[in-house]
Amino acid sequence: MTPDETFDLIVIGSGPGGQKAADQATKSGLKVAIVERERAVGGTCVHLGTIPSKTLREAALTITTLKRNADVFDFKLKDDMEVSTLMKRLDSVLQSYTSFISSHIGSTGGKVFLGRASFVDSHTVLVTSVKGTKTVLRGENIVIASGSRPRTPPEIPVDHEHILDSDSILSMIYLPRSLTVIGAGVIASEYASIFSLLGVEVTMIDRTPRPLMFMEPELTAKFLDNFTRNGGNYIGNVKATSVEWNGMQVRTVLDNGQELLSDKMLVAQGRLANVEPLNLGAIQLAQGRNNVISVDENYQTSVPNIYAVGDVIGPPSLASVSMEQGRRAVHHILGKDSHHAIELVPIGIYSVPELSSVGLSEEQAREKYGDHIIIGRANFEEVARGQIAGIQDGMLKMIADPQGKKLLGVHIVAEGATDLVHVGEMAILNGNDIDIFLENILNFPTLGEAYRIAALDIAAKRSKRHSKRHQPRIQKLIDEAELN
Ligand SMILES: Cc1cc2nc3c(=O)[nH]c(=O)nc-3n(C[C@H](O)[C@H](O)[C@H](O)COP(=O)(O)OP(=O)(O)OC[C@H]3O[C@@H](n4cnc5c(N)ncnc54)[C@H](O)[C@@H]3O)c2cc1C
Repeated sequence: MTPDETFDLIVIGSGPGGQKAADQATKSGLKVAIVERERAVGGTCVHLGTIPSKTLREAALTITTLKRNADVFDFKLKDDMEVSTLMKRLDSVLQSYTSFISSHIGSTGGKVFLGRASFVDSHTVLVTSVKGTKTVLRGENIVIASGSRPRTPPEIPVDHEHILDSDSILSMIYLPRSLTVIGAGVIASEYASIFSLLGVEVTMIDRTPRPLMFMEPELTAKFLDNFTRNGGNYIGNVKATSVEWNGMQVRTVLDNGQELLSDKMLVAQGRLANVEPLNLGAIQLAQGRNNVISVDENYQTSVPNIYAVGDVIGPPSLASVSMEQGRRAVHHILGKDSHHAIELVPIGIYSVPELSSVGLSEEQAREKYGDHIIIGRANFEEVARGQIAGIQDGMLKMIADPQGKKLLGVHIVAEGATDLVHVGEMAILNGNDIDIFLENILNFPTLGEAYRIAALDIAAKRSKRHSKRHQPRIQKLIDEAELN
């Protein structure tokens, strides 16, 4: 096939992974094409996932504050709240974000092709527009960043009107009175807690005994407690045996015989890699479990000039990680060393309250360092800023090695957790001792003070364990903290 245009790099998909790959390549002087099958660039992150869900979350938090103050200031919120009203700012956020991305791609010399990409051979990509126009592109190298889509279990008839997935949930016009959420992962927990904060009667169901099984149980217990206090209900260790829209409501029957009725349902049971339209058969690309594209540590696939990044290569399926993978794939194409593999990935869950963690969990630390690891905790009632901001049911948990020195992991549940965790991330990356939080000044009053309180907890336990007071300055800090 004769190409219509030739590029140094073709990027398939304009989500976070594709954007950063294109950005890195154009900055380095490569001639780049970026192919996107939707009407606008940005990917799931901008149009259906990260940004819309966080916009709704902000609205839910604002409304809660307004409701709390409604009596004081003598005003009333509308009962039949439209979802679009809650998301009023979304259009402008999306518009400015997409136009920024488009103009950025343009200004760096990249060329956007709107259409579906499919492989002809390992250097040739066919782009088919919605009108059927076909363009043949040739690329020296290709980065696949085609993302993922919601997985729909065959037994659940998602109709995008009553039974919705994470792509269609925000297309609801009015807030439902009740919502059943199937799933207990990140997306399920985020939406379940946001909608329950908005006054929707939410029931979350899953096979797992608690939501967010991969997070510290102490953190998820606080999440669950908050969710329940806001009117939410979690039913664990169950499976939905049938789901149907009965003309009035969504009827869900569970394998324990229980029947649930709700206005709407959200199905959030994982995501599948977007590989089908790519015609991977033409290039014999190796794929792994659930069809994800297999890559090595440089994001290179089994076909050397083809790389893959982001959700299409599987977990952790985060915008933050996809961006870095895109950048690193292009570094490898350019023959530059990325210095070290991505070892530390912070997890941020924007539920209400937020949960975030970095480094080893308590269980992983015990496996690696034995049972004598030292755990420090700071409850946010002890943190002045927590009191001021009304963030009282938060917690920061710090994990140190058996000497009570090396910081191994940080786990936080509280508003602001996803930002706060970066302090711990940097300390772990730098191999810092927990004493760094004791021997240096942190702003006051801040939520960051929780690091100091948890570090003091570890230092006190360490001191008891070793009984010798060989660190007079730290001991003085512990004594002062105990006096307070
Ligand atoms: C509800 C929700 C909330 C989320 N919240 C967060 C969060 O808070 N933080 C976080 O880090 N992550 C979050 N994520 C995950 C994040 O959105 C994804 O990890 C990220 O978007 C993946 O980026 P990507 O570049 O791999 O793919 P995507 O963003 O999915 O982009 C892929 C693009 O490729 C295009 N494409 C696919 N096939 C073709 C083809 N054949 N030809 C041309 N174009 C094609 C698609 O149209 C799409 O635009 C969330 C996801 C969801 C669903």
